[in-house]
Amino acid sequence: MRFLGLLVWVLSAGFAVQASVFTQSQLETARELRDAAMQETGAFEIVKDLTTRVGPRMPGSEGDARGVAWAKDALEAMNFDRVWLEPVTFPTWTRGVETARVLGDSSQPLVVTTLGYSPATPAGGIEAQVVMFDNLAALEAASADEVRGKIVFIRNEMERSKDGSTYGPAVSARSMGPVVAAEKGAAAIVIRSISTSEHRFAHTGMVRYNWDGDNNLVPAAALANADANQLERLVNLGEPVYLHLDLQPRYGDMYTSHNVIADIKGSEKPEEVVIISAHLDSWDLSPGVLDDGVGVAIVMETAKRLLGLEERPKRTVRVILFAAEEIGLLGARAYAEKHGEQVAQHFVGSESDFGAGRVYQLNARVQDDAWPVIAAIAEEMKPLGVELGERDARGGPDMLPMRSLGMSVVDLAQDGTYYFDYHHTMNDTLDQVDRTDLNQNVAAWLVFTWLAANSPVDFGSGANLIP
Ligand SMILES: [Zn+2]
Repeated sequence: MRFLGLLVWVLSAGFAVQASVFTQSQLETARELRDAAMQETGAFEIVKDLTTRVGPRMPGSEGDARGVAWAKDALEAMNFDRVWLEPVTFPTWTRGVETARVLGDSSQPLVVTTLGYSPATPAGGIEAQVVMFDNLAALEAASADEVRGKIVFIRNEMERSKDGSTYGPAVSARSMGPVVAAEKGAAAIVIRSISTSEHRFAHTGMVRYNWDGDNNLVPAAALANADANQLERLVNLGEPVYLHLDLQPRYGDMYTSHNVIADIKGSEKPEEVVIISAHLDSWDLSPGVLDDGVGVAIVMETAKRLLGLEERPKRTVRVILFAAEEIGLLGARAYAEKHGEQVAQHFVGSESDFGAGRVYQLNARVQDDAWPVIAAIAEEMKPLGVELGERDARGGPDMLPMRSLGMSVVDLAQDGTYYFDYHHTMNDTLDQVDRTDLNQNVAAWLVFTWLAANSPVDFGSGANLIP
């Protein structure tokens, strides 16, 4: 009996904590927003319009400017209290000719794409022997004599994962490979695409690039996974393999793009800001749908539905569509430079930048007192299939600069099992978006945004949350 009494006390105490976090009316609004979004939302129409009218939005391109104009117009049509632009300036880079061909008795073309901010090969391309490495560490361990004058080929494969945790370990071949190859005197580098598909789409992405202009890189490209398999087989035949590689990208002038920002002013604490964000730019190879047109649509549709309520959230909800994420979080860094001193007023932030897969987990980096609030928010996401997750979060790539200053962040963690089949390829098109999954994302973001903006407890942004 004593045990039963204790159990009843624990259960009722637990219930009391849950019930006291938000008011009944706040919870009812969250549930109405959630359930209506699961029926249908305008998110698909938003991503369709952006990626059809504007197309690819490579930082510094004409599409970048069109994207900023599109976003400004779309947000201004939505009744925000304020819409504005903040400048982000960087040197540009444009893709050119990109071909690879095996020479000799097995002569054949390979599908290849230039990595972002790679230098060009000499005009007409280069011809050199291929030297294959299992991964970046193997290249680092090699002597300069093994590498000098050759085309380095890093063959490491990326494992498939739901949470995307396998991307980080694989991507160093792309970011650091061109740097290490240059240190050892290589002529160029080709890597297996950082990809989980076996398609003949090559995946681009950024190399490690110093914006002060001090770079020592070799021309760098990614092979489609199927072509990386083919090149491996050719190397494994045991005879020297020679490649002709022609990459003709060009560095260009400085360009100023913009973060596009819009506020729904809070009714009680307007100076405290809940950031919901995505990035507006994309790579040049596709219309940038999964990366990150869908993120733009998810946060815009979330804001639109909050604007449709009669009641305003207590805190300000700020939509940020970041510029130049793909080439090094440049928009996010510009935002942190301008607003970093007000980190304590940035109540919490998050970015949707992992495709359109369903949200399955809510992770949060908040002070201990706020964890019951996160648990209460996750409780309202349960009907969406979302579980309470980890007591830490990254917040999404563009949240990292503010997170490093101590801003509280959450992850609405998405199922990314298939995200890296399409990421940074020609194949990132609207055809890959599932409307139902997209609506589920909007539903989860509505629950999070509405409740976080009305939280009775501070999430702890400031010095104590500095990682
Ligand atoms: Zn992205």
